Amino acid sequence: MTTSTPFTIKLSTNPTSQENRETILATPGFGKYFSDHMVSIDWSIERGWFDAEVRPYGPLSIDPASSVLHYGQEIFEGLKAYRHADGSVWTFRPELNAARMMRSAHRLALPELPLDLFIESLKQLVSVDKAWVPSAPETSMYIRPFMIANETFLGVRAAERAAYYVIAGPAGAYFAKGVAPVSIWLATDFARAASGGTGAAKCGGNYAGSLLPQKEAYANGCSQVLFLDASEMKYLEELGGMNVFIVLKNGTVVTPSLTGSILEGVTRESIMQLARDRGHKVEERKISFDELRDGFSNGDVAEVFACGTAAVMTPIVAIKGPGFVIGDESAPAGELTMSLRQELTDIQYGHIPDRHGWLTQLA
Ligand SMILES: *Cc1c(COP(=O)(O)O)cnc(C)c1O
Repeated sequence: MTTSTPFTIKLSTNPTSQENRETILATPGFGKYFSDHMVSIDWSIERGWFDAEVRPYGPLSIDPASSVLHYGQEIFEGLKAYRHADGSVWTFRPELNAARMMRSAHRLALPELPLDLFIESLKQLVSVDKAWVPSAPETSMYIRPFMIANETFLGVRAAERAAYYVIAGPAGAYFAKGVAPVSIWLATDFARAASGGTGAAKCGGNYAGSLLPQKEAYANGCSQVLFLDASEMKYLEELGGMNVFIVLKNGTVVTPSLTGSILEGVTRESIMQLARDRGHKVEERKISFDELRDGFSNGDVAEVFACGTAAVMTPIVAIKGPGFVIGDESAPAGELTMSLRQELTDIQYGHIPDRHGWLTQLA
């Protein structure tokens, strides 16, 4: 199936009223409200991709023996649609999300959705639900493509039926009161992903395993968990859903190299490019926790931040663990962190030229 295969459009007969939508768009939060429509495309081993639709948002009917409910054969993506000043709606480097979803599909033994169909699915949904894209500063529409195995079969093997969906909903400014530095929790008893496992795939299972350590983080006043490598528990990997960077005193920007257990973030990739454009040395290499701890105390590490589509970049000023605190919880956000964040969001919102051709118009 290619994009010349038209999507069938089934419009909602009961869409949200303009008044209710405007109330929601005024304080959307994150992941709480969804637009009036969704995309679905089915797949079977015999037919490939078929029945591409935009249809009213609503519950799925799923057989209780569907493989996804038992063995977790599921993957997802996350990207945003940004409203520009002229009212048009754009997204950021969707071809990287499409390619990553193919890699995730490969790892989870799910079918690979072709790149053009992935991008077309975003355009179809956002065109129909364009009114759901908010326009206040730093707001966006969060788009969540995902794929599940839905063969009715309890045997353990790759499913022969699957479905791809896209849902979307308005997202408020992540930091409502301005970007706030955070403290993060170091997981010492848990790892996120093992070598040879599914860490480089964006799959629900990785998240399921990160929720208990995240509860531990909350209990200790931190909002996020920093995971170390599973084999030696020595090197920084990433947070539960964000990549991590350090900025050295000499301006070098460093992020853990992709070892197979780290998720290749679109934000990570873009920040490395923007930093290089400014003449910063950028390194992808192992960062030991010892280097980070010593760097915090002797000043070699000037800034630490996490990055991902949802929050863009989050300054990290302290790391806590059982019985220790590194850094200063009341320190301000790093300067380079804040300035790269500004540049990236300025590109996404069309405030400055898109010199790398990163934007794709959706509607
Ligand atoms: C999605 C995700 C990221 C961030 O990726 P972006 O493409 O920048 O949004 C980082 N780590 C994990 C584990 C993720 O799932």
